[in-house]
Amino acid sequence: MNLLHRLSLVVQRSHSLAAILDSTVEIIAEEMEMDVCSIYLLDPADWQLRLMATHGLEKSAVGKVRLGMGKGLTGTVVAEMRSLAVEDASSHPGYLYFPETREERYKSYLGVPMAIRNRPVGAIVVQTMERRAYSQQDIETLASIAAQLVGIVENARIIEALDRGEEGGRYLQEIRSWHAGERARGVEADARVNVQLSGGAASGGIAMGEVALRGDRERGIEPKDAPFQGAEEETRRVRDALQRTQSDIVKIQKDAEREIDEEHALIFSSYLLLLNDEVLLERIERSIESGVTAPIAVFGALEEFKNQLAKVADSYIRDRIEDILDLRGRILAHLLEEKPVSSEVTDRIVVARRTPPSLIIELKAEGGRALVTEVGGVTSHGALLARSMGIPAVTGVQGITSIVRGGDRLIVDGSSGTVVVNPTVETLERYERKARRSDRRHQETLAYCNLPARTADGKRLTLLANIGVAADLGLAKKNGAQGVGLYRTEFSFILREYFPTREEQVRIYRKAYETFPEGPIHFRLLDLGGDKFLPQGTLDASRDPFHGYRSIRVLRDHPEVLRDQVQAFALAAAGRPLSILIPMVSSLEELQEIRAMIDDAIGQLPDRRGRQSPQIGAMIELPAAVEIAGSLAEESDCLSIGTNDLIQYALAVDRESSRLAGTRDPYHPAVLRMIRRTVLLAREQGKPVSVCGEMASRWRLALLLFAMGVDSLSVTPGALPELKQRLATHELGPLESRIDDVLALPGASQIREDISRMYPETNRD
Ligand code: PEP
Ligand code: MG
Repeated sequence: MNLLHRLSLVVQRSHSLAAILDSTVEIIAEEMEMDVCSIYLLDPADWQLRLMATHGLEKSAVGKVRLGMGKGLTGTVVAEMRSLAVEDASSHPGYLYFPETREERYKSYLGVPMAIRNRPVGAIVVQTMERRAYSQQDIETLASIAAQLVGIVENARIIEALDRGEEGGRYLQEIRSWHAGERARGVEADARVNVQLSGGAASGGIAMGEVALRGDRERGIEPKDAPFQGAEEETRRVRDALQRTQSDIVKIQKDAEREIDEEHALIFSSYLLLLNDEVLLERIERSIESGVTAPIAVFGALEEFKNQLAKVADSYIRDRIEDILDLRGRILAHLLEEKPVSSEVTDRIVVARRTPPSLIIELKAEGGRALVTEVGGVTSHGALLARSMGIPAVTGVQGITSIVRGGDRLIVDGSSGTVVVNPTVETLERYERKARRSDRRHQETLAYCNLPARTADGKRLTLLANIGVAADLGLAKKNGAQGVGLYRTEFSFILREYFPTREEQVRIYRKAYETFPEGPIHFRLLDLGGDKFLPQGTLDASRDPFHGYRSIRVLRDHPEVLRDQVQAFALAAAGRPLSILIPMVSSLEELQEIRAMIDDAIGQLPDRRGRQSPQIGAMIELPAAVEIAGSLAEESDCLSIGTNDLIQYALAVDRESSRLAGTRDPYHPAVLRMIRRTVLLAREQGKPVSVCGEMASRWRLALLLFAMGVDSLSVTPGALPELKQRLATHELGPLESRIDDVLALPGASQIREDISRMYPETNRD
């Protein structure tokens, strides 16, 4: 064919990619009689399409016009890897025009993708001034040119990349990482469009938006080759970048203080400490004096810090490595004069490896839309914090950080644990409808917030709230909680780089009484270890031992910590009802010992203000505790079943593991029978039982728990409106009368199906 022959001549005669592309657009426009022909190529560094050559559009726009995958007509062609012919481009829903190209003059549009073995490379676009319906022949011609051209383009780019040395290596690496991402999902063929991924439904709500990737690799910032500008100038640059990074962090801190509370702002103190670290600055300056540029000096000095920490096999330390990498990315962004990093999450969906509390705080403070992480379960601390902050989150999405790239668009459905990468218009519309529906439903449920909790057959119920951070209190009150069933006290400790003093704790705990002056407030003793660990190894309750040295076992070795906390509870209560929950009880002796320590702490209070005997609640979180629940009930005033841990220990499923999500089944008959057994044993002692694990917030399970005789449920505050509404519209009696038969069923699926038959979804669901 004449056209292809002319193209092959161009390749023989041209020496650069730009020259090939320039001639190609001229030839296509002439041979196909089009007013415009343009070529866009995908830059793997940021996965944006760049206008590389054009006949017909303004030449000055070449290299400047960039559009994300899925954006505009051309972005759609590449993202969906299909040709698109549109007679009246400006009336197409995906139409997007760049004024600098002056393309608004052209009516009709035809775009075809260029791809190598399903890896998108770019697109060829033709346009005409006159309105025109492109024929099948036009489409096929352009598609066959694209197929021929793509190999030439790619070879030219690889050769140019190799010529550029270091940067070229990076180009190839980006391509490699594209394949790695594709392989990670096993979706070689679908070209990253409308890819559905699933993870843990960590925090409800639907959000849509562009991706902001967190972490060093994801940021893709590496010190670029630049001439050394002299030690004085390079040092000035470093100091300036450190200063600017510090301002960013201080801004996040201020926003956190305003949007959340002063306590949460504390979480960034480790960043500020590092920024002010003399040793770090010395190392950077020393390497600058040896003749390296500012970015390389910063990169190297923090790399050294990182390598030192990497030698320590401790997962808390591993998280500090992530802080270091995050901070390095921020400093380098300033050094390389990219945009301030603190604004990066605003209105975006953040994708990260893990869920450190600092990230959730930053999202909340800076107006991030949602969070998706690669590791972590739905009951991890980060997930609990996301729920408190009302940020939709999906955790444990395998391979997500290598699958998505900056510029991708995501849908996050935190209620079902679904993430859709680069959704099609139809998917987008479906989720928009779903979001509207759930918003409507939520509005309806709000009417139940101020009504007493009761079932359709008139049974009065007690619904309390789980509190983790002060922000939960207001929501709990607003959503109609009757008190605090579980106050997790760990956050105030974890957020600080030091222990809060007794007085600080009093100030924090007092807020609970300000919100619920009549109580009840069930404060839990510090439950560290497992997923709740402290900075700086202050107490040696590290993250790893879910089994072993955690919770009250740690407190037994640190009576002063327990004493301060108990005294703070009592002082905050100031004579009002006080209840203290003891977590992770494994034996009667342990309960007696901790109880004695509590009494002792209260007895040591200097004045009478706080000298009251608190109610004591033993938490049932271990199978061993279920077996001795009768004796534990006798020794305490109430029992509180922590099903998150009970399920973990009964079924041997790490609560953090996303891989085991399916095994972590609250309908498991062993779990349900353990709860029932605990209720019956407590009843013999005349003691009430509460359930405060996450399963209590699911309405069918809540009905099941009440039918088993549980006296109260304590749930995440956001779950209260729907729970109240569901309970109010369903009867408990029929389930109560069959409860023994239900619990006798042999498997989780039989129980789940049985309950679903009794309580089917209505049309409204
Ligand atoms: C539980 O284990 O169910 C519980 C409520 O405690 P936490 O989730 O804080 O461990
Ligand atoms: Mg627990």
